[in-house]
This record gives sequence, C-alpha cells and structure tokens, in this order.
Amino acid sequence: AYRETLTQAIQVGYSILKQGGTSQEAVEKTIHVMEDSPLFNAGKGAVLTADDTIELDASFMNGATLDAGAIAGVQHVKHPISAAIAVMEKSPHVMLSGAGADQFAQEQGLEWVPSEYFFTERRINSLKRVKEAEQRRQSAVEVATDPYLVQQRMGTVGCVALDQQGNLAAGTSTGGMTNKKWNRIGDAPIIGAGTYANNATCAISATGWGEFFIRSVVAHDISALMEYKGLSIEQAAYQVIHEKVGPLGGDGGIVGIDSKGNIAMEMNTTGMYRAHINAKGELTVKIYKDE
Ligand code: ASP
Repeated sequence: AYRETLTQAIQVGYSILKQGGTSQEAVEKTIHVMEDSPLFNAGKGAVLTADDTIELDASFMNGATLDAGAIAGVQHVKHPISAAIAVMEKSPHVMLSGAGADQFAQEQGLEWVPSEYFFTERRINSLKRVKEAEQRRQSAVEVATDPYLVQQRMGTVGCVALDQQGNLAAGTSTGGMTNKKWNRIGDAPIIGAGTYANNATCAISATGWGEFFIRSVVAHDISALMEYKGLSIEQAAYQVIHEKVGPLGGDGGIVGIDSKGNIAMEMNTTGMYRAHINAKGELTVKIYKDE
C-alpha cells in the first residue's frame, strides 16, 4: 500500500513537471496525495497529541525567490502544505501557529474539515500504546527510542522538485510525534531545519526525531555545505545525517535534489518510505535502507 501511494503521489508531481509546470505546484500536489492517505503521518493519517487532538505542522520554500511559508499546530486545514504556501503568498509573515493559522487558512478559502476527519483507529491505538509505555517506563528518551513507537511517528511526508525552468522547491507536512504535549512543534515547519530550498544549491525535506533536526539545522546545513564548501548533495547529506544528527542521538533522514537534478536520500534509520523520478521518467520506489 505504501509503495502504491508513493507511486501515485510522485506521478502527480511528475506529470505537472513534464507539462512545464512549476516545482512549487509539483511539490504541493504530490504532498496532497500523501496528506489524503491514512498511511502517512500527515493530513488524514496524522498522529494524535497527548490531549487526543491533532496538531499539524507544514512548511514550504521556493528556491528561486527564497520565499517561504509555514504553519504549526493547525487542527482543521485539510491540506496543511497549502496553508504553508498561502502564508508565503498571501501574508506578510513566514510562520503562523494554532487557531490563528487555522483562521488564516479558512479566510484564504482553503478546505476546512472538522478535527474528527483526522482521527483514524490506527492512530488512536498507537496513542494508547505510547501512553502505556510512558507509564511503564517514565523516561521520555526510552519512549522516544522504542522501536514500535519510532515506527508510529514515522511517516512525515515531504517532497522536493526541480522544474524545467531550473527552479527548486521543497515542502514538508506532518502530524509530529504521537503523544506530543504542550503544543510541541517539531522540525517540519521550521525553515532551515525540516525544509529548505535554494536554486544555488538544493531542495531538502527532512523526517525524523524533530528535536535533533532543529538542533542540527539539517536542511539548511546541507545547503550550506554545498554553498560554502562545494560538497555534492550526496556528501553534504551524508555528513549532516551521519556525522551530526547521529552522534547527537537523533535519527531520521532527508530527501533532496540539487540544481542539476542529482538526488540524495540519506537516512540513519532502517528505512524511509521514498520515491523519485528522473528526467527520463524512470521511477524508483523504496522502503528499506538497503534496497
Ligand atoms: N520530524 C517530525 C517531528 O519531529 C516527525 C517525523 O518526521 O518522524 O515532528
């Protein structure tokens, strides 16, 4: 099911690019397919907070203009990635949060749904299991590294694209971490941490243990290694994931593409749902690290 949905999603973006569409539209529409699927931790399939609510985070960056937009903690926007793009295009700000961000999205005419739309049995069950684990162990670190629980927080969605005009774009959308408290915000809506795009270097979208991705400023760090040190996207992504995030104790990965169309998909986890299509239309879909 994951492979099928990834294929469907990336085909949507690819056909936009093939017809001369923008990387921004390709990223947005590709992410919509994953936000509409209950499989991924974004939109419909988002994980639940400790208060049995959902709080969705998303961000977008345009590599041509370095414009960016983000939302955090929204509860009613059906497609958070579109709300992030609306913040970029229709507001003087970069980041909106909470009820105000939902209100802004509604004023922009974006699709609004009751919170119940996002509640799936799978996520209700995983919240129960996380709460049980928390009571048993009492250690936030143990809960955060439990293999079952790590599995439950996986599934943040992201997309990066290079269009025929040579413009890069990156977007990321997530429900965050199961059982999150106190309006916790992860890396996904933070420009430079979970998302970054710059035509001079690359477009990056990250998934993983958000606190470590914020502290490592992952997406921008990859771009900076390319810009200031002349590293390739593969070298830069490898260095940041394995020599920075890993030693700090974090786990996760990134998808990235550079201004020449070179692709990087780096992770320090056992897998990451991922797909790419090159300019010839050749499709690759993978789940496990060593596929
Ligand atoms: N990065 C997301 C967050 O920390 C979760 C994930 O990608 O697994 O909110």
